[in-house]
Amino acid sequence: MNIRFLGTGAAEGVPAPFCLCEGCKIAREHQGKNVRKRSSILINDEFLIDIGPDFVSSINNQDISGEKIKIICVTHAHFDHFYPENLEIRSKRYVPNPPEQCTLIGNSSVMYKLNMLGYTNSALHLDKINIEFYRSIHLGEYLITPIEANHAKEYGAACNFLIEHYGKVLLYASDTGLYSQRTLDFLSNKNIDILIMECTNVLGETGSSHLNIEMFNEQVNRLNELNAFNRGCKFYATHFSHSELLEYKDLKKLMNDHNIEPAFDGLLIS
Ligand SMILES: [Zn+2]
Ligand SMILES: [Zn+2]
Ligand SMILES: [Zn+2]
Repeated sequence: MNIRFLGTGAAEGVPAPFCLCEGCKIAREHQGKNVRKRSSILINDEFLIDIGPDFVSSINNQDISGEKIKIICVTHAHFDHFYPENLEIRSKRYVPNPPEQCTLIGNSSVMYKLNMLGYTNSALHLDKINIEFYRSIHLGEYLITPIEANHAKEYGAACNFLIEHYGKVLLYASDTGLYSQRTLDFLSNKNIDILIMECTNVLGETGSSHLNIEMFNEQVNRLNELNAFNRGCKFYATHFSHSELLEYKDLKKLMNDHNIEPAFDGLLIS
């Protein structure tokens, strides 16, 4: 399984255009890994998780194309994760040759937001699957299980996705908050090989629907007690907010001390 980080920032991006905080100043000064688009990953060039407002620029900046994408999972309807106009550009008006048929997986809020644009499924070359938490979906070589996060309750709760592909297991957890006991129990003994989880406010205070580094560790420890991880599981943090954000090399040092790797835009892992 190859995973490419298209974006690793929270809703406002890093630096946030209208902000003059210390984190934004650091990002403007040091550029590179300190600059973050809105969070999204691409698996094996064909499976996208979240299609936010930065989809076009992140694909083009990384010199890849979206033509092979045939599965799109959307975690939730917050605008940084789902910007439906980026599906509108699959229509004939923008692409003369029809793109490959694609399956969109999301909850009813996601489907509602897309339906507001007024396109039929066939105009966008899309099949849609409305998720049911904890119910697995078999698509091609992937087994995809949406699990309930503690985030975006106003949009029917965000999904985190457990994805199995040829014996490897990925948990994509952004946005998440601290899991309910039901979700924790569901993840027990799941042999997760890669955890990608938000750490929105690394050192800052955060509400219950996002994580800081303390809460990230707490969630990992709880899952560890339930044998959720395979030995050697890798832990990646994503969805960073600008607020109080350290320069990348300091962030890496801090997180590596906790056995966490901070993701950055363009990071490619296998
Ligand atoms: Zn978000
Ligand atoms: Zn800022
Ligand atoms: Zn959100």
